[in-house]
Amino acid sequence: MRRSALRNIALPALVAAALAVGAAAPPTVATPAPAPPAPPPVKTPVAVGYGGAVASVDADASAAGIEVLRRGGNAVDAAVATAAALGVTEPYSAGIGGGGYLVYYDAASRSVHTVDGRETAPRSADTALFLEGGAPIPFAEGVTSGLAVGTPGTAATWETALDAWGTRPLRSLLAPAERLAQRGFTVDATFRAQTEANRERFADFPASAALFLPGGRSPAVGSVFRNPDLARTYRELGRRGAGALYRGPLADDIVRTVRRPPVAEGADRVVRPGDLTRGDLRAYRTVLRAPTEVSYRGLRVYGMAPSSSGGTTVGEALNILERWDLSRASEADYLHRLIEASRIAFADRGRWVGDPAFEDVPTRGLLSRGFADSRACLVRDDTVLTSPLAAGDPRDPARCAGGGRAVPTTYEGESTTHLTTADRWGNVVSYTLTIEQTGGSAITVPGRGFLLNNELTDFSFAPADPRVHDPNLPGPGKRPRSSMAPTVVLDRHGAPVLALGSPGGSTIITTVLQTLTNHLDRGMPLVEAIAAPRASQRNQSATDLEPGLWDARTRGELEALGHRFRPHPELGAVTGIQRLGGGRWLAAAETERRGGGAARVVRPVR
Ligand code: GLU
Repeated sequence: MRRSALRNIALPALVAAALAVGAAAPPTVATPAPAPPAPPPVKTPVAVGYGGAVASVDADASAAGIEVLRRGGNAVDAAVATAAALGVTEPYSAGIGGGGYLVYYDAASRSVHTVDGRETAPRSADTALFLEGGAPIPFAEGVTSGLAVGTPGTAATWETALDAWGTRPLRSLLAPAERLAQRGFTVDATFRAQTEANRERFADFPASAALFLPGGRSPAVGSVFRNPDLARTYRELGRRGAGALYRGPLADDIVRTVRRPPVAEGADRVVRPGDLTRGDLRAYRTVLRAPTEVSYRGLRVYGMAPSSSGGTTVGEALNILERWDLSRASEADYLHRLIEASRIAFADRGRWVGDPAFEDVPTRGLLSRGFADSRACLVRDDTVLTSPLAAGDPRDPARCAGGGRAVPTTYEGESTTHLTTADRWGNVVSYTLTIEQTGGSAITVPGRGFLLNNELTDFSFAPADPRVHDPNLPGPGKRPRSSMAPTVVLDRHGAPVLALGSPGGSTIITTVLQTLTNHLDRGMPLVEAIAAPRASQRNQSATDLEPGLWDARTRGELEALGHRFRPHPELGAVTGIQRLGGGRWLAAAETERRGGGAARVVRPVR
């Protein structure tokens, strides 16, 4: 611990934190009785009021965003502050070692903009990135490796968004998160469980073990977790700007860690190095992209264009679903159509969506009515489509054509976090960020306090079928295809209706789709639309079902139609906001999943 890091810290917090991480108390300070750990922060899944709103999975992070709004910052400022705090309290899902996608609604111009802050592959990468002797390496070995680390995009995303639409300097927006990292936060059951799930991986990297396994164990629920290295890193970013991550000592540390992952002595894990260079970091750029846009029930639904598949896949499925009146459908009929629309949209996603800098992605075609019509006619009332289903051709939609050869959906992990903010001026941000799977690569940059992503595992290691073009193979500087689907819905006048998103790898898409339709079609209040049990079909033979649907009678009705299911413990973790009019906002989050979310407004009303 550096001396400078000890200034300005409340003594009880310092001592409690020192006890929690097993660090020695500073020698110049007399040791008072240990302070009790801070009580776990209160989380509420719904809040209504004025002055702006923040919804995230974490109470401290939502509080950071609310603090910024209260002091006159806007939705973008609040989103950056919330995201930075999530980097502290949700370090296994988000942080400056990763990337993400930010969708922004600008109230003054009534327009939607997006930032693609996806990680990029090293410029030396090619389709053989994950092949050895012509065969793909085991997925699990890719997951914990330097090979899977892409150039992080999160710091650049913050800078891009702030330059374009923010009103506060990065430094002031990092301040709440820096404080949180320095003073510590109270460990909850989710944090502990996620640490536990990563224990063996973290133990193999001394910097990860020192940070996340103090005393060799996962931190206890109720203990205080501090990350002074990350506080220092945030200070450096605040002082030098986000560019500090892309050139200079911090960039050098990242490159060194990826090229020679510091593995514990005696660990027998195979940890492949990556070929990330200083040049790769220097060359990193976010991309400002036009959002995807579809009309749905008289509303406009905006999402993230490729390199994410979120916007096109949610959009295509909504286009397919719009022909049916879901408001009057039975639950089984609703789910039947939801499942079939997702199946079809995933077949098309697999064939057509990749990084548009490398692939000719027919984004307009995928979102067109004509294409949706050509695909929707495959759906039958009395039976079920078979997966894998072949893709259609949005460049030349043929009615009910199955297209060519069917290929299965490639595997993706499930982790990540989503936050949503709104401000008193009516601006809205919907922002999903990730380090890919929970715990990312498990490799912490020594002395810097954050984990590196393993986002490049979102590439196909090899085509699922060599006879069918795969738009998601690795390439030099290429962005792996994402499923992140930060979404903003506007009314016909261009005013916001709601915004939401979710983690969950490829299940993000089905979770966003189901939450939107639960609310917009089935009339559920947003928090109920979020809490409702989920189904996820991704062009696979079985549809994933959460327990609430697994145990319901509806499952039997759907099985009678031919649906096949497999149980899934938990899909996604949505946060969202809704504009209620007259300056009032509703913030909504999970009631149960991941321990429940934290919905806040600046000035609550009862
Ligand atoms: N890497 C995933 C994606 O970009 C997100 C990770 C997750 O949600 O688990 O779609």
